[in-house]
Amino acid sequence: MKILPLAFDSLGTRSMATFIKTDIKILIDPSAALGPKRYGLPPHPLEVKRLEKHIKTINKYAKKCDVLIVTHYHYDHHNPNAPEIFKNKIALVKHPKKKINKSQKQRASHFLSLIQPKILEFADGKEFIFKDTKIKFSQPVFHGTNSKLGYVIEVCIEYKGEKFLHSSDIEGPSVEEQVKFILEEKPDIVFIDGPMTYMLGYRYSFKSYEQSIENLKKIAEICEILVIDHHMLRDLQWRERVKQVEKIKHVMTAAEFAGKKEELLEARRKELYEIYSF
Ligand SMILES: [Zn+2]
Ligand SMILES: [Zn+2]
Repeated sequence: MKILPLAFDSLGTRSMATFIKTDIKILIDPSAALGPKRYGLPPHPLEVKRLEKHIKTINKYAKKCDVLIVTHYHYDHHNPNAPEIFKNKIALVKHPKKKINKSQKQRASHFLSLIQPKILEFADGKEFIFKDTKIKFSQPVFHGTNSKLGYVIEVCIEYKGEKFLHSSDIEGPSVEEQVKFILEEKPDIVFIDGPMTYMLGYRYSFKSYEQSIENLKKIAEICEILVIDHHMLRDLQWRERVKQVEKIKHVMTAAEFAGKKEELLEARRKELYEIYSF
């Protein structure tokens, strides 16, 4: 199968938008966003420009797809401003009412009222087969270390004996249920968002970080290619923080996987304001 990261934090926006081509075309989480405040600063104009480019790319790819997946209802994973991309598609989405927090429940209800897919399925814990492609979803797991931010569904795509797993926003994995699905599926290629180390010590505990590293080591043992991106790439020290995992397997970013330049624009926001005047 062909896997193409369309927008990721290592490419300059908050996103995990991934295009997959098997004997069908799939897009996971067709959206991107920017961190509203970082170092007390709003997004730099370079980030705004990059976001426009990423949204354009995502919408272009989405239109070619058979299946669009939404793992949860945060704006960096679903885009209520582009409901037309779902027209006549197969939409496999996180359940809008079960295992969901209040804010995502409201966003889900609004979003689902806008889209007009050919088929709409609530995918939590389910398995779908299209031609020779199997798409399997985990049960809802925490968005992070507890249920405060709601739940996400992890996705595993299998085609011709090869498996690709997209974790969505698990912020780690630090929780048993999050890692269980990954280890059971034994994917060849894994895309994980990683622990939220840019908030280490205040909104993300050292304990959760340590648990995540232990779990990432287990994942590194079973997969061929390990990509960590999204949450962890908001930390300029991220590579130093995965050095225990790196001893087992080289950790890639989505940018590296795609053969593109790493541009951690949000993590470098302060610097961007210093370098580029406008
Ligand atoms: Zn999220
Ligand atoms: Zn996210």
